[in-house]
Amino acid sequence: MTREYLKKADLTPSSGASDVHKLVQGILDDIEAGGDAKAIEYAAKFDDYDGSILLSDEEIQAAIALVPEKIKADIRFSHDNVRRFAEAQKATLTNIEVEVVPGMIAGQKTIPVDAAGCYVPGGRYSHIASAIMTVTTAKVAGCNHIVACSPPRPGVGIAPAIVYAAHICGANKIMAMGGVQGVAAMTFGLFGLPPANILVGPGNQFVAEAKRILFGRVGIDMIAGPTDSLILADKDADAMVVATDLVGQAEHGYNSPVWLVTDDRSLAVKVMELVPQLIATLPEVNRDNATAAWRDYAEVIVCADREEMAATSDEYAPEHLTVQAADLDWWLDRLNCYGSLFLGEETTVAFGDKASGTNHVLPTSRAATYTGGLSVHKYMKIVTWQRSTREGAKPIAEATARIARLEGMEGHARTADIRLAKFFPNEVFD
Ligand code: NAD
Repeated sequence: MTREYLKKADLTPSSGASDVHKLVQGILDDIEAGGDAKAIEYAAKFDDYDGSILLSDEEIQAAIALVPEKIKADIRFSHDNVRRFAEAQKATLTNIEVEVVPGMIAGQKTIPVDAAGCYVPGGRYSHIASAIMTVTTAKVAGCNHIVACSPPRPGVGIAPAIVYAAHICGANKIMAMGGVQGVAAMTFGLFGLPPANILVGPGNQFVAEAKRILFGRVGIDMIAGPTDSLILADKDADAMVVATDLVGQAEHGYNSPVWLVTDDRSLAVKVMELVPQLIATLPEVNRDNATAAWRDYAEVIVCADREEMAATSDEYAPEHLTVQAADLDWWLDRLNCYGSLFLGEETTVAFGDKASGTNHVLPTSRAATYTGGLSVHKYMKIVTWQRSTREGAKPIAEATARIARLEGMEGHARTADIRLAKFFPNEVFD
């Protein structure tokens, strides 16, 4: 590798630090012991909230009435796209049946989990799109009970547009509770909810740590760290578009890494000039996030050629990967590690984040080396079954008895013996 760092990160994001772990474990233990009342206490402590926890139909309709019609239309547009994509994903999950030996049929089918808990973050920004992404996929998967849970603002509750999105996408219940207490309420089945079988959705370090601790007892989609994004750009890329896209992702949070990988040094230099100028024009909160993210976590890397760019990208395994370079088919074929890929300047990460149909709940912190993002598949259990004729059972029972005895599992062996003796009384088996 000949890669040259024009800018190198001073810090790397780390979730699950031991002090966060201790804090979150303590809150979970408290809520498990103290139930609804304890969860309400934590909502008051962390979110200064003492309003309704489970929204009534009247409260949902009152919130919906506050959402402008144009925004409602945009949410429906996004929901339609996410739903259509999820339905196409579901269609790939076909049941199978195989005759393993004559008479012995083995099959596989998929069953949706019964209860899904969808966490919709809402501390820093109102993540309307996260409600669309998580609730829609749960609904298309076929979950019977879908809870959308989001942090309330003091005196206001959940942002009305989040309530509208959760409602039209198919949430059976909408819960005004954030952070660890929200995750705990869904998992432990507080407030009369069915305990969740799976928890999905992004969130901050407290939410991520709660999911990590509870995994096993409940399924999870993934443990999400701070969002990260990488752009692959060649000499033909538009420096202003590249810089705008980097800034767009850096505003997620002070610790959200953005990386530029290019084989054109002059493009890199130009982008590095533009990024601080663009950040300076953002509103204050966004500017503070992007300034810190760019200063501490961003990297700009110059590679020798596109093969080295691709290898670098696979090593970083970004959550969001954008290609602004010639020969998009080559890149689609070559790249192996990313949560979601955006090919060409005609699309961008924000399209996927908000409205183009692919899911925005994606693996961060190099988890793209082993998993993709949220899809209907995450809510589906792939289970197997079998049935047999007596003839089909014969060779299986003989092999089972011998293998089990060799393993020392006499009880197992006898479950095969009894069938051989019953089905084939005139034969002798050794
Ligand atoms: P959040 O809803 O995740 O967290 C807010 C909650 O954190 C509050 O309700 C509060 O209960 C809890 N909290 C705050 N300070 C606490 C403390 N000191 N101790 C215990 N609990 C505390 O909202 P957020 O903070 O804005 O974070 C959202 C995250 O989700 C961001 O990191 C963002 O990048 C990420 N996100 C990721 C994606 C994706 O697909 N990867 C999409 C959207 C958002």
